[in-house]
Amino acid sequence: MAAGDAVSSTLNPPPQSHPYSHHAGQAERQGQRLRTVRSHKQNLLAQGMHGWELMEAMTTMSLEHRESMSRARHRCQSCWFDDMNCICHRIQELHARNRHILSSSSSSTSSSQLNYVVHVKLLLLMHPKEYLCAGNSAKLLRMLLPEQEHSNVTVQYYIFGKVDDVDKLAQEMMIDKSNTMILWPDKDALTVSQFLERQQHRRQQQSTGICFERDNSHSTINICNPTTTLIRAVVLNGTYTQARNMHTSLRKHLNPSTPLPVLVQLRPMNRSVFHRAHKNYGHAHQSQQQLQQQRQQCTADDDEKHVVVAHRVSTAEACGQLLLELGASSHILHSIIEGVIINNEALGRQDTLPKAQDG
Ligand SMILES: [Zn+2]
Repeated sequence: MAAGDAVSSTLNPPPQSHPYSHHAGQAERQGQRLRTVRSHKQNLLAQGMHGWELMEAMTTMSLEHRESMSRARHRCQSCWFDDMNCICHRIQELHARNRHILSSSSSSTSSSQLNYVVHVKLLLLMHPKEYLCAGNSAKLLRMLLPEQEHSNVTVQYYIFGKVDDVDKLAQEMMIDKSNTMILWPDKDALTVSQFLERQQHRRQQQSTGICFERDNSHSTINICNPTTTLIRAVVLNGTYTQARNMHTSLRKHLNPSTPLPVLVQLRPMNRSVFHRAHKNYGHAHQSQQQLQQQRQQCTADDDEKHVVVAHRVSTAEACGQLLLELGASSHILHSIIEGVIINNEALGRQDTLPKAQDG
C-alpha cells in the first residue's frame, strides 16, 4: 500500500458498509414488521375482536410470517433445517429400520405381558415459538411415528394459538376422556402405572356388566376390548414456562364445567439412562451441557429469555419414555433418542454458520 493511501485511509477510513447496512437493514425490517403487526391488531380491535379470538388471530399471523421466512430461507419443510443440514434422509433411515416395531401387526414382549397391544395417539400441543424452529424435537415424532392408520402409535399436532387448533384438540380429548391423559407434572398427577391400573379396573367392571362411572361429558366410552383400547396423551411442547402457560390457558379457555382429562406424570427421569443412551450412540455423543446450550440457542433465536430447566429431557424423549411406560418396545424410545442426537448434531453444525436474521 502506498504511503498516500495509508494517510488517506486514516483520514477517511473505508466505510464499514457491510455490518452497518446489515444492522440498519435488520432494524428497518423489524420496525416495518412491528408497524404491520400493530396496524393489524388495531384493525382487529376496531372490528370488535378481543380476548382469545384476538390472541388466535395475532398468533396465526405470526405463524404465517414464520412460514414465509422459512420458505425465503429455503428451510426444509419437514425437518426445518436449511438445505445444507437437512436431516430427513437420516431420520427416514431410522424410521425404515424401526418400521416393524411401529407396525400395528407387531407387539412388544412388554406389551404382551400387560395383556394388550399398545395403541397410543400422541396429541402434541406445540408452542407457537417452537414452530419451524430447527431445535424443536417434537417434529421428529411426526417423522418417526407418522400419522397412519396401520401404525399403533400415531401423532397429531396442534399449535397453541393457531385459529381453531386448541378447540380441535379439545374435541379430540373429549372423544374418550376416561382413556385420555394430559402429560404434566403436578402434585396430584397419577403415575402411568396408576393410569393403567384405573383402566384395568374399569375394564373389569365393564366386563362384569357393572359400570359405576357417570360420564357427563357426552363422550363415547371405548368398547371394552382390551386389545384395541386407544390411549390419547396430550403432550405440551415448549420450554417449561411455555408449557406451564399453555396448560393454564387450556384450563381457563375450555369450559370449566367440563373437567379436563386426568394429569399423568412420568417416573422421575433416570437421567443416567438418557446419558448412557446418548453415549452409546458414540458417533454423536455430546455432553448434556452442550445439548442444553443448543436448546437455549434455539430459544434465543426467538428473542426469548426463558430459563431452560437444567437437564430437562426433550419433548420427543419424554414421549419415548411415556410410550415405554405404557408398555411399548424400548426400541421406540431408543430410536427417538437417536433422532434427537441426529437433530442436535445438525443444530451444532448450523450454529457454527452465520445466522440469517429474523425479520
Ligand atoms: Zn429435511
